[in-house]
Amino acid sequence: MIPFEYRTPKNLKEVHATLKEFGGDAKLLAGGTALVIMMKQRLVRPSCLVALRSVRGLNGIEVKDGGLSIGGLATHREVESSSLVRRRLPMLAETFHHVATIRIRNLATVGGGLAHADPNQDPPPSLIALGATVKATSASGSRVIPLDEFFKDYYETVLNPDEIITELFVPKVAPNTGAAYIKFLPRTADDYATVSAAAVLTLDKTHKTIVDVRIALGSVGVTPIRATAAEAVLRGQPLKAEAFAEAGEKAKGAVDPLSDFRGSAAYKKDMAAVFVRRALEKALADIRQQAKAKAAPKPAAKKKVAKKKKGKRK
Ligand SMILES: Cc1cc2nc3c(=O)[nH]c(=O)nc-3n(C[C@H](O)[C@H](O)[C@H](O)COP(=O)(O)OP(=O)(O)OC[C@H]3O[C@@H](n4cnc5c(N)ncnc54)[C@H](O)[C@@H]3O)c2cc1C
Repeated sequence: MIPFEYRTPKNLKEVHATLKEFGGDAKLLAGGTALVIMMKQRLVRPSCLVALRSVRGLNGIEVKDGGLSIGGLATHREVESSSLVRRRLPMLAETFHHVATIRIRNLATVGGGLAHADPNQDPPPSLIALGATVKATSASGSRVIPLDEFFKDYYETVLNPDEIITELFVPKVAPNTGAAYIKFLPRTADDYATVSAAAVLTLDKTHKTIVDVRIALGSVGVTPIRATAAEAVLRGQPLKAEAFAEAGEKAKGAVDPLSDFRGSAAYKKDMAAVFVRRALEKALADIRQQAKAKAAPKPAAKKKVAKKKKGKRK
């Protein structure tokens, strides 16, 4: 291994100062699940590793402006198992659950995963479909970046070398919204996807018209891809099952997969259409399930009805 300096800053200010000191030659080390492999393969050769383990206060998960604020150092496992995330946005917890194995999820962080920018990763399509943003900070200030403008190429993002992701923000979803993430895994359960798709669908209150929709795909290009032409087929239109297949066909035009051991480019393109349709169907089922749950009598109310009935019989 090539020698490097190892720094252990205790707070964000020290992180910023160290990144500035090395002027683009330092690398942040969060969970290390991606970076250590890349260093072993000599794909990256930083002159300094800035270990984030001792930096406190950047792994919280809380409600902010009705949405979810997730610290950049929160682990995948913390997101997946957070009762707040599970209650407010089950699709997000499910997406993080799909990542690799529990051992990797215990180490891998939200910020490290996004900065790694492998187009086969699970969280990006869901986060793009949810309209999420990241906060990046440096010694010179901070900025908020929408995730659909964040990824530039294979393993490349718009982050500057002196920036650190300190927060992921997922805005509150509108009423009558359903969300789904699905991943095609023909090999093993902990593999990267052959194709993945996320859909966030909002209906009007009569459930007859599509008010809004966001669709994103993974593993079908050099970055995760938002399928805007597919969204345009649906947005503002009456809800019709056939339209989901039409949107899927449109999504094919947005993807540009590579042939590899997970499938040929042509196969992945066809699967992109199928997976967009299925993600939309799953998001619709989510809306219907939520409406059903809302309409069902609460357990306490059930007890009251039972008591009343008992009273009547007397
Ligand atoms: C065996 C294996 C299987 C995997 N399977 C999947 C899978 O199925 N699905 C999936 O989505 N992913 C999968 N992954 C990838 C995994 O999600 C990433 O390795 C992980 O998310 C990286 O997070 P980390 O905290 O370990 O980052 P690190 O390895 O510490 O860092 C990764 C990169 O991000 C930078 N960085 C770290 N933290 C920050 C920050 N806060 N701000 C800015 N830059 C930062 C680092 O400098 C480095 O360039 C797999 C990985 C392995 C090793």
